[in-house]
Formats: sequence, structure tokens, C-alpha cells
Amino acid sequence: MDHAPALAAKPGGDLRLARRLIAENGRDYLGRYVIAALMMAVYAATTGASAWLMRDVVDGIFFAREERLIILVPLLMGGLFVLRGGANYVSTVLLAQIGNGIVARLQRRLFDKILALGTAFFDRTHSAELVTRMTHHALAVRDALEKIGNTIIRDLLTLMVLVAVMIWQSPLLSLAVFLIGPVAIFLVARLLRRIRHAADAEVRFVGQIGALLQETALGIRVVRAFTLEPVMRRKMETAIGEAEARANRVATQSARTAPIMESLAGLAVAGILLWTGYAVVNSDATPGAFVAFITAMLLAYEPAARLARFNAQLAGKMVGARMIYELLDEPAPAPTGGAPLAVPRGEIVFDRVAFRYRPEQRLFDALSFTAKAGETTALVGPSGAGKSTVIALIERFVEPAGGRILIDGTDIATVDVTSLRAQTALVSQDIRLFTGTVRDNIRYGRLDATDAEVEAAARDALADGFIRALPKGYDTEAGEQGAQLSGGQRQRIAIARALLRNARMVLLDEATSALDSDSEAKVQAAFDRLKAGRTTIVVAHRLSTVLAADKICVFSDGAVVEEGNHRALLAAGGVYARLYRLQFEPEARSQAAE
Ligand code: ADP
Repeated sequence: MDHAPALAAKPGGDLRLARRLIAENGRDYLGRYVIAALMMAVYAATTGASAWLMRDVVDGIFFAREERLIILVPLLMGGLFVLRGGANYVSTVLLAQIGNGIVARLQRRLFDKILALGTAFFDRTHSAELVTRMTHHALAVRDALEKIGNTIIRDLLTLMVLVAVMIWQSPLLSLAVFLIGPVAIFLVARLLRRIRHAADAEVRFVGQIGALLQETALGIRVVRAFTLEPVMRRKMETAIGEAEARANRVATQSARTAPIMESLAGLAVAGILLWTGYAVVNSDATPGAFVAFITAMLLAYEPAARLARFNAQLAGKMVGARMIYELLDEPAPAPTGGAPLAVPRGEIVFDRVAFRYRPEQRLFDALSFTAKAGETTALVGPSGAGKSTVIALIERFVEPAGGRILIDGTDIATVDVTSLRAQTALVSQDIRLFTGTVRDNIRYGRLDATDAEVEAAARDALADGFIRALPKGYDTEAGEQGAQLSGGQRQRIAIARALLRNARMVLLDEATSALDSDSEAKVQAAFDRLKAGRTTIVVAHRLSTVLAADKICVFSDGAVVEEGNHRALLAAGGVYARLYRLQFEPEARSQAAE
């Protein structure tokens, strides 16, 4: 699979990405972030206070035996925990809502981006890759945002408060803890770099699994017919195996931080106990202060550990953000603007057009031909001669490197793309139906068409009959591939869509696959109605199309080498005559035989 390089990740700073996420979205969520932060501050303060209160428990209740405190301290302690729980709830919900909001926004931006990208992008990017980015990676961003909020604000504040309590209760003991802390942080930090690499790789293999799955599902008939199951299974096995291995590596490496922290904490506790022995003996520290200190320290362990792990965990999650930004940063062809195109007649002229997909490719250097208004011009020639590219050039899916394409004398490079496309109706080889009903699928031709107009177009395209015979008629779900419909039926739906558009210019890329003769005749009849009175350029694969064309342009070696109608070209005995004998005559003979 060679789609990965299309969107290869550049390793970049996670914090830079996090900053960008926050810079782009933070302002709109500022209010909620502030409330969440306040709640986190309450959480931190109550945590600190509960540790502080331990001093009164020990000194006041156990030693001084103050009756007043027997009621007061439990009341306070209970209140603190209720407050702490409430604050945690509010801040957690708010953070989740902010995360969901930002994810939704990213998804909208991603889809807008995908709609804006040039067709070349889709030639080199697997659709499953886009699916993963829009779903899996977007959700990872939410996790990352929650993690950032929880760790950076809540844990940091809590840690600060607890450290303050510790210092207040016993500066001497605090010193011991703070000497050990940095060593732990240093050791943990060393692990982080490796985790990031492993996490990146894991995500890529997950993407490959999606791509393979999609290929298998869409191509299941080919897979079955050629008994490719073992091949597909092997490919999948590799992808899954790799993903598993990487996931395990990420797991081991991030779990490794925990025992390191654990051991260090144990060492710290031992050291502190030693130190305390001396301190208690040699100072006037009360037992209460000592208990409050230990409580604060134990409470501080969790947030401190989370802060230490923060980078590693963020690394895993930020891969998602990186993937999304790669796509968002993909250069989209700038909207060209320009005046709306006026098409009084619909004449299309190619004037020495040069084009190639890749620098080393030789396609067109100076392609010239004219498609007269209201006539049908058929493009014929060997496969790969560039016939479909002509249609892509007229629709401006790709832009010429030289020369001009004129419609009624106007260079289409200078006009507004939307107005250009509004005046053409395209029926491509790829007659995929979209999710939605059959009616919706036809209405994509012209969104403001009424139901009656949709049905009239279907009748014109000889599609009305079979559509009504579907389980729910026009309201039948067409589905991802329109599986219930035959190739010929889908073509007629595509023709109905084009008819509904009622554009002056029609661009047809005839399907190369043969239809049964009944379907063939109906599709042909539908084409005839679509072509009537319109300028039509058709990439011809069928005998009936070339016979009916007003003009045939014969493509060879990046140029039109012959022009004329069928009879004239056949009589000339040139390239077309040879091509005809090869490609179309067998069809003519088999039709005559029927
Ligand atoms: P035809 O329709 O005559 O069979 P095409 O216009 O589809 O020919 O293709 C012309 C040449 O351009 C072929 O060699 C084909 O491989 C190449 N080509 C077509 N589409 C693309 C694309 N999106 N990216 C790169 N090369 C392409």
C-alpha cells in the first residue's frame, strides 16, 4: 500500500500542537474553561485542606482531647469531601463538553477541507485514511484535550497546594522529598521519546487495517472470484500483527514509568521515615504536623505521577491531532474567482492545450479540436490516450499547463469554477450512488427540483419503470454501492440526474463494461435524449455512439490525428478504420448475428 506517504507525519512538538489547538478553539470556550479551572482550584484547595485537617485530628482530638473538635472536625472533613467531589464533577463534565465541541468543530473543518481539495489529492490518498482521521483521530484529540485540562490545571494546582501544606507543616521534611523528586522526573523523561515513536507507528498500522478492510469489502466479488482470500488474509495479518506489536511496545514503555515512580516513592518514604525519626526527637514538631505532612505527601503522589507521565500519554493522543492538522494544512487549490461563465451556444474549443499528470509523463503537448454547439463529438482512441482527461480538463478537475480551453470564446481558466460546472452535466464511468434515497440521488442533478421534475427526468432516462418496481419506489435507499441495482440501472439514474440538470453541455464517459443488450438499448435511448440539442463530448466505447456522432476525434500519441464522421473516417482508411476493425467491428458482427 503506497498511500501512506501522501500524508506522512512530520514529527513535531506536541506542545506546539496543543498550543495551536487551544489558540484556534480556546477563545470560544474561554468561559467554560474559566469555570472548569475555578472548580479545579476548589478541588485542589479542598484536597490540601483535608490534609491540613489531619493535624487537628491528631493534635486536637487525640492529644488535647478537645470535645469541641470531635464534632467539628468530622463535619468539616465530610463537607470538604462533598465539595471536592462536586467540584470534580463539574470540571470533568465541562472539560468533556469542551472536548466534544472542539472535536465537532475539527470534523466540520476537515470535511470542508476534503470538499475543497483537488481531485489529485484523492488519487493519492486512500479513502479509509480519511475515515480514520475524521473519526478515530478526532476522538483522540478530545482525550488529549481532557488530559491537558485535567493534568495541567487540576493536578498542578493540587500538587502546589499540597506542597504548600507540606512546607508549612515541616520545611525540613519537605526538603528531603524535593531532593528525590527531580531524579524521578529525569528518569521518566528519558522514556518519553521512544514512546512517541512507537505510538506514531501504531496509528499508521491501524490506518492500514482500515484501508485493507475497505478494499476487501468493496472488491469482495473480485476477491472471491480470484480466490484472493489467502492473499488478503496475509496482508491483513501483517498489518494487524504490526499494529499489535507496536501497541505492545507503547504499553510496555508507558507502563514502565509506573514501577519507576513506585520504587522511587518507596525510597522517598523510607528516607523520610529515617529523617523524621531525628526530626521528631530533635525538634518541637507536633505529631499532628507530622501526620498532616505524610497525608499531604501521599495525596501528592498521584497528581505528581500523572504530571510525570503527562508527556508520554499526551504523545500518544497528540498523534491524532497531528494527523488532523496534516490534512487541514494540505494545500488546497486557491479558489480562482472570476466572472460567471455565460454559455449562449455551448461551443467547446481546445486550443493547443498542454497537460501532463506527472512531469515525466507525455500526454498532451498541443491538443486542438472543436466540439460544435449542439453536436455530439465522440472521442475514440486507444486506452490511456487521454480521452477521460479531456473531460477532467473541461470540468477543471485539472488545469492545463499551456494553451486554452474556450467555451463560446471565453477561456475557462478565467471564469468562476462553480458557474462552469453548473453548465455542464457529467455522467462518468464511475456510477456510484450516494447514501440516501433514489430520489435524492437524482435530485443531486439540481437540488431545487420538485418531486415531479425528478420523476419526469427519470421517465426521460427510462428509469421510472424499474424505480417504481423497487420495494419503496423512489424512496428506496440507494446505499453505498446501490447493490440492488444493475450497472445499466445505475447508469440510467446517473443519466436522469444529468437530464435534471438541464445543462447546455453534456460530458459522458461511457462505461467500458458491456451491458446486456436490453439494458444497452435502454441506456442508449436515455443517452440519446440527454444528448438531444446539447453540446455533447463523449468518450466512446460503444458502436452505437460512434455511429450516431456528428464528429469523431481520433486520439493517438497526445493529439487528435483524425476528425470526421464515421462514414468519412472509415472511407479514409486511416487510424480510425484500423481502430474500428479492432474495437467496434466485432460488436457490429455480434449485433448482426442476434
Ligand atoms: P483514456 O481515457 O484515453 O483511457 P486517460 O485520460 O484516462 O486515458 O489517461 C491518460 C493517461 O494519464 C494514462 O496514461 C493514465 O495512466 C494517466 N492518468 C489518468 N489519470 C491520472 C491521474 N489522476 N494521475 C496520474 N495519471 C493519470
